[in-house]
Amino acid sequence: MADIIPFDQREGSLWFDGKLVPWKDAKIHVLTHGLHYASSVFEGERLYNGRIYKLEDHTTRLFESARILGMEIPYTEEEINKATIEAARVQGFQDAYLRPVVYRGSEQMSVAAPKSKIHVAIAAWQWPSYFDPTEKLKGIRLEISRWRRPAPDCAPTKSKAAGLYMICTMSKHEAESRGYGDAMMLDYRGLVAEATGANMFFVKDGKLHTPIADCFLNGITRQSVMALAKARQIPVVERYIEPTELDTFEECFLTGSAAEVTPVSEIGPHKFTPGRLSETMMTAYAADVRKPVSEVTLTKVA
Ligand code: PMP
Repeated sequence: MADIIPFDQREGSLWFDGKLVPWKDAKIHVLTHGLHYASSVFEGERLYNGRIYKLEDHTTRLFESARILGMEIPYTEEEINKATIEAARVQGFQDAYLRPVVYRGSEQMSVAAPKSKIHVAIAAWQWPSYFDPTEKLKGIRLEISRWRRPAPDCAPTKSKAAGLYMICTMSKHEAESRGYGDAMMLDYRGLVAEATGANMFFVKDGKLHTPIADCFLNGITRQSVMALAKARQIPVVERYIEPTELDTFEECFLTGSAAEVTPVSEIGPHKFTPGRLSETMMTAYAADVRKPVSEVTLTKVA
């Protein structure tokens, strides 16, 4: 970890409340509502070959996440799309990870803070997407977390809200401390839900099976992978999945903007062998994110 430059000490600029500012000057006060009461939502996006994959979808979700928490973003979606592109461009990156964040400021400090200002920051940094199929196909090992995804009437589960990540960080820290790569979380009913920052797919008899996203994020990558599978005549079954079924699946993989398509080799005592369908979806997604702009336009028109 020693070689990682702390995030507040990096070079360059980022977009903060309407303008580009020097990276190291993008500071907030300790009495910020977002820090104390988790009034914060964010996005995670990737820039591939100079183009942000599904930028508009991410921006729309950012606005929806903020709306759910009662925060009105003081910009239009179009302005945020442009600002996100600017945040990547100012760093001179062709491939990068992007992090827009929206939070309540420091005007008021109590549970209720309706008059607080809504701030927006967007930063880009290099987070390589490793696409070495041989390496990736070894798969990662997941622990089963003791924390569960909350019910939709216990938390704003459709929002990519910072507060929902408290149990994800705890789960992942615990998993890593025991030598695992990540953790799988069950939901409030005890059904298979997702990993700490990615959705899950399973393979059985040539079909993909994925849990119904009714209490966790219906990931943009999840939706892309389902569309890519259907375009290849690979059936996708969205259904409730019991943990007792895990032994009946042949393959398992995670999907997410950061994780992309990441095969899984173990979930607790259950073993999987990353195989043909994981590889097919990994390759299809890797091609889709780097599709030339003309093809993207054609797809949209069609
Ligand atoms: N679930 C959680 C908890 C996540 O953090 C993410 C990553 N944003 C996902 C699912 C996948 O979402 P997406 O594919 O839109 O990145």
